[in-house]
Amino acid sequence: MKTFNVPVIYRSPLITAIKNKRKQQDRMKKDFTPTVLDFGPLKILLARHFGFCYGVENAIEIAFRTVDENPGKRIFLLSEMIHNPHVNNDLLSRGVQFLMDTSGKQLVPWTELQPDDIVIVPAFGTTLEIEKQLEQLGIEPLKYNTTCPFVERVWNKAEQIGQKDYTVIVHGKPKHEETRATFSHSKANTATVVVKDMKEAILLGEFISGQRPAAEFATVFAGQSSPGFDATKDLQRVGVVNQTTMLATETQAIADYIKDVMVATFGLTEATISERFADTRDTLCYATNDNQSAVTGMLLEPADLAVVVGGYNSSNTSHLVELCEEKLPTYFVSDPEQLVSKSAVHHYDFHHKEEKYTENFLPEKEQVTILLTSGASCPDALVEGVIRKLLSFYQLEHLADELAIA
Ligand code: SF4
Repeated sequence: MKTFNVPVIYRSPLITAIKNKRKQQDRMKKDFTPTVLDFGPLKILLARHFGFCYGVENAIEIAFRTVDENPGKRIFLLSEMIHNPHVNNDLLSRGVQFLMDTSGKQLVPWTELQPDDIVIVPAFGTTLEIEKQLEQLGIEPLKYNTTCPFVERVWNKAEQIGQKDYTVIVHGKPKHEETRATFSHSKANTATVVVKDMKEAILLGEFISGQRPAAEFATVFAGQSSPGFDATKDLQRVGVVNQTTMLATETQAIADYIKDVMVATFGLTEATISERFADTRDTLCYATNDNQSAVTGMLLEPADLAVVVGGYNSSNTSHLVELCEEKLPTYFVSDPEQLVSKSAVHHYDFHHKEEKYTENFLPEKEQVTILLTSGASCPDALVEGVIRKLLSFYQLEHLADELAIA
């Protein structure tokens, strides 16, 4: 895979050495067992896959290069480039401004922009409406484009099935930048509706089967369906795509559920299913699949707790937390500083969107085992920082240096 020029502050020689060693041993990426770092009283099981993905490194390289190559120019990002506060703050400190927040609320009015301003499209991509807005302001919308190719792959898939008269069902978070962009691109070709979870998929199923009157559709899916969506005719042929970072098991369950409803409603057979249900397979990206599989592999090992590092608004990271929470006490932290001491941690409860403070999070026992992973937008340097911080609670910091040298 292509390598990118990412600022060295985000790298970790320790983590790079571990990743390279695993890669050499398992080139086909079939082994999802964690790397065991046994420090005696502390054992860390490090996920097989975690950290910066292709799309994030691509976006960071383009954004930092743009800043370096354009001194004196005003540089804007449409919104957060990726969902990691450290990377975003580094860009802000270099003079970059965000035009919108992550929910799409305007922070800098469009009227402030001049034709010679630089506007960078983030890794999530953007909507056709925003592209048009930039064009009207005399700014070439895709000149500085960091949209991840795996997001564009979803747009292409939606376009392909849309051109065959399938309605597109997007499994995604309606307010997430990527889902807003996918929705915009898809609805340019075909009727489109966003479902955020199984509950909404079941609601949609009720419209497909006719259990719910079509007249209610516009209210139930307000803001999540394309203008003029007609539930009587737009749910005859459907296909499911997803936001690239959703939980793989949930996306699969939703696609299977919709398929079953189509089969039952229209009396389909194996031979006729493709007439009404497009085979999209899943459109999750490789990083989401690898990172979630690595967490599943890691959870097969006995452990006391899990630590997941990443930005609190990061979708892919929250799904790693969700997987860990099913089995273990899990602490979602944005950086090493959240680990205050052996007996206290600041962490994030993404279900209730609130920061928490927990005491005695490390059990008192002969050997404490911690599962450790991070999201696709989290610099490896932060994961190394977490390892060092945990070691410091046992006065074992020096062992991290020995590991780095080994
Ligand atoms: S998580 Fe996947 S889709 Fe998102 S930026 Fe990374 S590689 Fe691209």
